[in-house]
Amino acid sequence: MPPFAEARVDVSAIADNIALLQERAPNSQLMGVVKADGYGHGIIAAARAKLAGGATWLGTAFIEEALQLRRAGITAPVLAWILPPGAPIAEAIAADIDLGVSAAWLIDQIATAARETGRPARVHLKADTGLNRGGVTADEWHATLAEAARFEAAGLLRVVGLFSHFACADEPGHPSIAAQLDAFHEASAAADKAGLRPELRHMANSAATLTLPEAHFDLVRTGIAAYGLNPIPSLGDVGLRPAMTLTSRIAVAKRVPEGHGVSYGHRYVTDRPTTLALVPLGYGDGVPRAATNRAPVGIAGRRFTISGTVCMDQFVVDVGETPVAAGDPVTLFGPGDDNTPTTQDWADVLDTISYEIVTRVAPRVPRVYI
Ligand code: PLP
Repeated sequence: MPPFAEARVDVSAIADNIALLQERAPNSQLMGVVKADGYGHGIIAAARAKLAGGATWLGTAFIEEALQLRRAGITAPVLAWILPPGAPIAEAIAADIDLGVSAAWLIDQIATAARETGRPARVHLKADTGLNRGGVTADEWHATLAEAARFEAAGLLRVVGLFSHFACADEPGHPSIAAQLDAFHEASAAADKAGLRPELRHMANSAATLTLPEAHFDLVRTGIAAYGLNPIPSLGDVGLRPAMTLTSRIAVAKRVPEGHGVSYGHRYVTDRPTTLALVPLGYGDGVPRAATNRAPVGIAGRRFTISGTVCMDQFVVDVGETPVAAGDPVTLFGPGDDNTPTTQDWADVLDTISYEIVTRVAPRVPRVYI
C-alpha cells in the first residue's frame, strides 16, 4: 500500500445522485450498476449507498460480482448480464440472482442449470437492437422467445425482463437512438406474441436516464451518473455530485537547477531553477502512464501538470516557486473543489471518458468512505 494516498468516496453523494436520477425517471424503478468494483468505488459500499438512495435493483456484469453482493448480505434483486462459457449459472440461480440472456445459446444452459438446481431461473432476455455487442440478434429473437416460452411452461425459468442497451445514448439526437428504440418496441411486441409477460422492460443507461424519457420503461440502469459523473459533459451541471476524490501527499520536495531532465526518459526538462515535488502514486495505482506531461494536479490551491514520465509508483510535479513541503496534500481528481482538477479534466486530457479514470484506480489505493 503506498503511503499518503487514498481514494475518498463520499457515499452520501452516491445516495443523493440516485435520488436525483429517480426524480428524472419518476415512474421507473432504478437499478444501481455496481460492476467493476462499483466503477472503482468499491462494490459493496457503492451497492449499499445506492440502495440507501432508493435504488431497488443492482446490476453487475458477471455472476461472480453478484455473488460478492450476496456474500455481503445484500438481498436486493440483482441482475448479472455477462455470462461467458463456464459462468457459475447454477450457483447464481441458487443465490437468487437474475440472469441476462445475451446470446441465444444461453437459454439452454440456463434451463439445464435450473433443472440441476431444482428451482426456476429468473431471466431477462437481451435484444441486440443495434449496439452489435451482447444481445440476441433479430434473426434469432423469435426462436429464442419460443424456447424461453417452452422452458417457462416447463417450470425451468421465468422471463422477468426484456432489455437492451444503447450504442450512442451519450450523443443526444444520434439517429441510432430512435432506430434502437423502434427495434426494442418490435422485440417487445414479439415477446408479447410469444406469450411471455415480462414485468420489466429496460433500456436506459445514465445518459438515457438524463435525456430520454421515452427510454425509461419500467427500470433504468444507472452506472456512471450515480457516481456523480456526467456521461454527457456538454449537458453542463445537472446536479450530480462526484463521489470519488483521489488524493496523495508530497513525499519529497527538492530544488533543482535549470536544464535538469526529470523521471524516466527525461521527457521533462526544467527550464529554470525550480522545485520538484515527488508524489507517491503511479501507474501501479491506476494513474495512466499517458498522463505523463499532461494531466493536472492540485497543490496548494493551484493547478500544475505532471512533469515527466509517470512511473509505476510515483510521479513528479514541477511546482516552480510555490512553497511546498513533504506531507502537503495533492489532489489528482475529484469534484473540483478549491480549483482542483475534476475527473472530467483528466478524461479530457487523456482522451478518454470519466468511467475509465475512476474504474482504473487500483486495489493498492485504499478506499476511504466518508
Ligand atoms: N447497462 C448495461 C448493459 C451496461 O453495460 C452498463 C454499463 O456499461 C450500464 C447499464 C450502465 O451504463 P452507465 O454507466 O453509462 O450508466
